[in-house]
Amino acid sequence: MPQLRVGLILVLHDNYVFVLQRDGQAAVVDPAVAEPVIAALEQQGLELVAILQTHHHSDHIGGTPGLLARWPAAAVLASWEDRARIPLQTQGVANGDRLELLGEPVEVLAVPGHTRAHIAYHLPASGHLFCGDTLFAGGCGRLFEGSAAQMRDSLQRLAALPPATRVWCAHEYTEANLRWAAATVDPQDPCAAAIGTRLAAVRQARARGEATIPSSVELELATNLFVRASSAEQLATLRASKDNWAG
Ligand SMILES: [Zn+2]
Repeated sequence: MPQLRVGLILVLHDNYVFVLQRDGQAAVVDPAVAEPVIAALEQQGLELVAILQTHHHSDHIGGTPGLLARWPAAAVLASWEDRARIPLQTQGVANGDRLELLGEPVEVLAVPGHTRAHIAYHLPASGHLFCGDTLFAGGCGRLFEGSAAQMRDSLQRLAALPPATRVWCAHEYTEANLRWAAATVDPQDPCAAAIGTRLAAVRQARARGEATIPSSVELELATNLFVRASSAEQLATLRASKDNWAG
């Protein structure tokens, strides 16, 4: 069987839609809009078989009706707990569920914090993680519906995945996250140098117009202050700092 390929489409300025493909079939994760996704799939001759949603925000599910109009048979996977807010789902999933997608095993992980029913999709065989607005490169999602303790537990859960796991975060927030982290980190913290090094590399990538996604679990463990937070209290302090940062 050919290897699973993962690509990204930038939409709405800083949103990423992820396209998984194998053997002429495709699945997409968090389609904010439909048109660019339809164009990309048609250009590659791909048939959409599944849409994966991590949470209910419109910049993650907004393109689903348009994709279903083009590919009515596509399955829509989403949190069953959040079925009232993700009503187009055809396959409700929950923490611990294991399914198969494009010949690939997928594990569903509950990662509340940004929203109360946020989920992530882990593909252990190929080493991919689609984590929506929970873990960002150098940051984490805002706490709209969950507590700092929930977000810390969710980040720890993702950080416990194999270090080489590619982390597909749903927004291009990396440079701002790392500029905040570099301005915030205690210079004596052993991760301060790694944050500075990463920020320099990210600035160069962005200047070339390149995406900074995917990240990896290993890189986030080394440079993400939220992942490194040792308590819910510390994470809450960091989150408040980032929320109020004008940088
Ligand atoms: Zn969101």
